[in-house]
Amino acid sequence: MEIQMGSGSKKGSGKTQHTRVVIIGAGPAGLSAALYAARAELSPIVLTGMTIGGQAALTHVIENYPGFPDGLGGAELGELFKAQAERFGAQIVFDTATEVDFSKAPYKVSAYGANYTADAVIIATGATPRHLEVPGEEEFTGRGVSYCGTCDGFFFKDKDVVVIGGGDSAMEEGIFLTRFANNVNVVHRRDELRASPILQTRAMDNPKMDFIWDTVLTAIEGDEAVRHVQLENRKTGEKTKFDTDGVFIFIGHTPNTELFVDQLEMDEKGYLVVNQFMETNKPGIYAVGEVADPHFRQVITSAGMGAAAAIQTTRYLETLE
Ligand code: NAP
Repeated sequence: MEIQMGSGSKKGSGKTQHTRVVIIGAGPAGLSAALYAARAELSPIVLTGMTIGGQAALTHVIENYPGFPDGLGGAELGELFKAQAERFGAQIVFDTATEVDFSKAPYKVSAYGANYTADAVIIATGATPRHLEVPGEEEFTGRGVSYCGTCDGFFFKDKDVVVIGGGDSAMEEGIFLTRFANNVNVVHRRDELRASPILQTRAMDNPKMDFIWDTVLTAIEGDEAVRHVQLENRKTGEKTKFDTDGVFIFIGHTPNTELFVDQLEMDEKGYLVVNQFMETNKPGIYAVGEVADPHFRQVITSAGMGAAAAIQTTRYLETLE
């Protein structure tokens, strides 16, 4: 079942609906939790936020999700997760959670279109790409600065771009960008990559990719669009003005936990703290996927966490009966 909600005021329209389980977020973790909770006949309500499929939906091809030997598109995988959860009765609501009150059960979750009370909540709000926080970054976002090669690569046909970062995201997205760009210059702050060996090899072997080592980007400059960046070598201190048409930034993520400040336990980086059962410090509240996982951050591990939380939720609700 699919429900469309408007996005007007911050609080729900006054209507409050009680449900056994609210799932906040519709990436691989949230939708896997929805599938398992639906199959346990809990009729979960999933508040999707802005996207279906989470960050994975922005990935051009996912090659490491088992069962798809030829890989498949991230957005397509998200739609398949959604369809499977709906088949068993999950209610997918296109609305964003704006406020929660976890002080006592039943827990309150407000969204733009409605307010909910729930006996259990599964949080799967994911993470957001980190910003470099250098001059020009904000000003040129959408005019040459991007955090998603799959989304924006097309606009850089026959242009030169720089990619910031040395992890899997930087390599994967950099390789994807070579479909469009003339040159992809990876600027990395160290002299070795963090990315997995297979992606490192592919990136190094790609004739359109070059590497600028031990270097940080200190400013992004241009006019109506990006024209050049300021680079600084961390070992020699040498500063260079480097011409480019685009800056793609892949330097990790920040967990989306603002809603839960002062309500749930977090670590020093803001990730929700969970135990092996995906339980937070409040009974009946679980956290899954990248909002609670700074370590693995894979589609399959997030999906696994979602399934585990839904199984645990089912057991928890049985103890209440
Ligand atoms: P990541 O592994 O945390 O890598 C971030 C990169 O950005 C690192 O190379 C880091 O440099 C650099 N960095 C961080 N802050 C910086 C700053 N202020 N200035 C310049 N550089 C900075 O993040 P990710 O690549 O997004 O990957 C996140 C997780 O998702 C990982 O577990 C990864 O394995 C996974 N992932 C997997 C796949 C796949 O399997 N195909 C694809 C994408 C992501 P240092 O190396 O010096 O720390």
